[in-house]
Amino acid sequence: MQFQKNFTWVKRSLRYILGLTLVAGLVTSTTVVENVSAYSTAGALGRSLNVYSGFTINRSLIAPLAPAGVEGCREGQLLRDFAGVTIHETSNWSSNANALMHAQYLRSGGQNYDVSWHYAVDSTSAYQSIPENEKAWHAGDTANGKGNAQTIAIEICDNAAGNFDQAMANAEWLTADVLYRHGVYTVDGYLFQHNVFSAYGKNCPVTIRDSGRWGEFCSKTQGFLNNMVSQGGTYTPILMTATATVNQAKNWASANNASAQFILLADLYWELAPKAGVDPAVAYAQSAHETAFGRFGGVIDATYFNPCGMKTTAGGDNYDPAAHQRFSSWREGVQAHIDHLALYAGQLGYPKTYSSTTPDPRHSSSLFGTAKGVENLSGKWAPSSTYGTTVVAKIKGIQSASAALFTLDAQITNFDVISYQNGMLTADVTVKNTGSLLWSADIYIRLGFGIDTADQRAFIRAGG
Ligand SMILES: [Zn+2]
Repeated sequence: MQFQKNFTWVKRSLRYILGLTLVAGLVTSTTVVENVSAYSTAGALGRSLNVYSGFTINRSLIAPLAPAGVEGCREGQLLRDFAGVTIHETSNWSSNANALMHAQYLRSGGQNYDVSWHYAVDSTSAYQSIPENEKAWHAGDTANGKGNAQTIAIEICDNAAGNFDQAMANAEWLTADVLYRHGVYTVDGYLFQHNVFSAYGKNCPVTIRDSGRWGEFCSKTQGFLNNMVSQGGTYTPILMTATATVNQAKNWASANNASAQFILLADLYWELAPKAGVDPAVAYAQSAHETAFGRFGGVIDATYFNPCGMKTTAGGDNYDPAAHQRFSSWREGVQAHIDHLALYAGQLGYPKTYSSTTPDPRHSSSLFGTAKGVENLSGKWAPSSTYGTTVVAKIKGIQSASAALFTLDAQITNFDVISYQNGMLTADVTVKNTGSLLWSADIYIRLGFGIDTADQRAFIRAGG
């Protein structure tokens, strides 16, 4: 059987199919407490209060994930993209309503309600409740509003037992830290009061607004940000919402003579990377560098399903094929790549465990947090001192590529039904593009969404 088809539909169904066997990538809580004193530069800001000298960010009390389809303070919906930080105040003046109490609330009585925040901060510490790549329910502007869908929420505690000025100073530092780690070096256009998103104009953050201190909050946050840049430099963040679309990636890859297989891998990267909080443009650009756009030509080939030059646990010489990991599928290889990047960048929920919770064979905890930026991968992922900047150039190529829908005309040359049971069709499909092998694998198709199930081949023709 041979018939010419527009490949768009197959790709669309491929994304759906891949979604069925999704590898859970949601972060879980780990005990992470960071002392931020390394960033403190007392007196350097010309302010009366700096970040509290013993200030810590506690990440061990992340809110529990609500079951699928159930409302809760943490539903696992991914932040659409990163547009900045929204500042709130708790408006709870009870003496014990500190950051810890707020974090505990989202793990007990508050976990079933769609009210939440990423961080609560008081005069001595901050507690994180929601991973930074997920939405919290804080802005009162619906699930798709800019506040909820694109910003990270910081609640400043108003508890009477705390010192508000110190809590505000700590929140300024924390806000700067969030912006800095997202590669944003200015507060202009990236700092929001809850008030601007609230559908009913809530007076929040109340103390800062009522005392006319918003300008002070912004300028002191900028001061902390400037210190972070002068100490740590600027970089292209690995942990970030997608900075380009999957169509941009495919158009860019196609323009660079990528193999059709590599072009298709973009779907996997844009599906899996955001779940780990990794910018898929970063990972895909790195894969293009490591695999010569899927053309390989080095010591390994496409049969390794290895998109990033990953070595085995034992490792070995760069020119020894046996030193390179052979994955069972592209899904596994891409997941290993993303997990390795998330590990380097210090993502919440990492390190994971090889091979039970990650297919990354080189998931050494010693790598955790040692490269927050792409540039920092130089001399680490690869020996070259220009490795990071080479990948960054490719990321910029993706970001500036056309966002037009990418379509690929392909030829389905084989479609052998293996089985059909419980609404699941299993078939062996071979797809060719301009004569070269594009894709050949067992696929699992769930019949449905308006497609004629009476004729399984018509199912394939539906998008032609
Ligand atoms: Zn608020």
